[in-house]
Amino acid sequence: MAEMSWAAGTQCVAKGDHRKPKSGELAYHKGDILTIVDTSTKGCYVVKHNSTGEEGLINSANVREREALRVDPNLSLMPWFHGKISGPDAVCKLQPAEDGLFLVRESIRHPGDYVLCVSVSGKVVHYRVIYKDNKLTIDNTQYFYNLIDMIEFFSKNKGSIATTLLKPKQKQGTKSAEVELSKTGWLLDISNLTLGENIGEGEFGAVYEGEYMGQRVAVKTIKCDVTAQAFLQETTVMTKLQHKNLVRLLGVILHKGLHIVTELMTKGNLVNFLRTRGRSVVNSVQLLRFALDVCEGMGYLESKKLVHRDLAARNVLVADDSVAKVSDFGLTKLDLKEPDNVKLPIKWTAPEALKKEKFSTKSDVWSYGVLLWEIFSYGRQPYPKMSLKEVKERVEGGYRMEAPEDCPPGVYSLMRICWKQEPRRRPTFHKLREKLEQETGDLSLDTGSECREGIWSGSGC
Ligand code: ADP
Repeated sequence: MAEMSWAAGTQCVAKGDHRKPKSGELAYHKGDILTIVDTSTKGCYVVKHNSTGEEGLINSANVREREALRVDPNLSLMPWFHGKISGPDAVCKLQPAEDGLFLVRESIRHPGDYVLCVSVSGKVVHYRVIYKDNKLTIDNTQYFYNLIDMIEFFSKNKGSIATTLLKPKQKQGTKSAEVELSKTGWLLDISNLTLGENIGEGEFGAVYEGEYMGQRVAVKTIKCDVTAQAFLQETTVMTKLQHKNLVRLLGVILHKGLHIVTELMTKGNLVNFLRTRGRSVVNSVQLLRFALDVCEGMGYLESKKLVHRDLAARNVLVADDSVAKVSDFGLTKLDLKEPDNVKLPIKWTAPEALKKEKFSTKSDVWSYGVLLWEIFSYGRQPYPKMSLKEVKERVEGGYRMEAPEDCPPGVYSLMRICWKQEPRRRPTFHKLREKLEQETGDLSLDTGSECREGIWSGSGC
């Protein structure tokens, strides 16, 4: 039976309600997300309630696994958006008439402008959405960040339109992200979230520290609806991945855009971590441990045939117990070797990916070599003092970075094999891991987190 193979840490979903628990049992509602803590009791699990943090017993037959989302280009945060269609077309689509049935279209007469079309008392009313000072408005009194924000508002308030929006007319072929996320247990409730300080600035939105029902979390907020839609793919990929060296997705919140909720990595990104602490605090054993952590996370992606495309120390985060985890799957794609026009991080990208957009696990291995260089140089910028143009040309001509100061020769030779011009001559992450373990010598791989902290304080292991 499937339940037999469940391990501690597995996320699962309650199949029904259990409102009156006996002593030692957990109270839960249908659809609550629970984490398995212990499976040693026959027929039962000890589980932790993800929202309340309470622990207790549950009958193993009463839970099911939280499903991963399918990578589906039709999954939409705006299933009610029909693109460029005419007014009469919109009227046709809103038949049979039903009060509150609505859609949004792009105006044909005024390209770039949107129109909200709502069915009310057997007629369709068209509201022009005006773009003003980077915001959207219908009536010059209520302003919105984006269409998602606007639809959310008029679904709750009538405001100055004829009726509240009751039912989206979904564009044919689209699937509502909200419905799918909620069905699979990945949609979190904003009312349970307390936002704290801003802890980082991503390219597309700010990152905040927060608390989700007692659990410390990081929240990436994306306000632009087009970007949010693109990030939905990142999220979808993350629902499939569970590994100790990948930043774990807890779920998403849909409110005025997209909020991606992940575990909080209290020690921030690896570049800042190494730069701010330096050689006096972090020794080479710990550097190797970071290298091994990332290698294991990437080995897992490799086994899933996923390509990261943006592996760099800035995209590796450090947990409270100093375990490094790979983050930022924004560019992660299934290994289909398809060309794609994205802005490339030149200093980290393999030559064949730069020239021919050939991304593969082997181009990730190249980036991993650069990341190793960053780790052992304590967060220095790769190819110091070289312009991007120069890097591109010289690397193509066979130039490779020198070893960072005091870098163990064995580690530098790993960098060099990651930087083989021909992708197939580069090692797999699996092989790299073996070599790193050799490098780590007799350091036990099972060393616990206390040991990691011990290294900082110089107490050794
Ligand atoms: P970008 O969009 O530039 O790739 P991110 O949005 O992923 O970057 O993150 C920006 C910064 O926010 C990171 O460098 C890190 O310092 C911080 N950050 C992101 N996610 C987390 C997290 N889960 N825990 C702690 N800090 C985080």
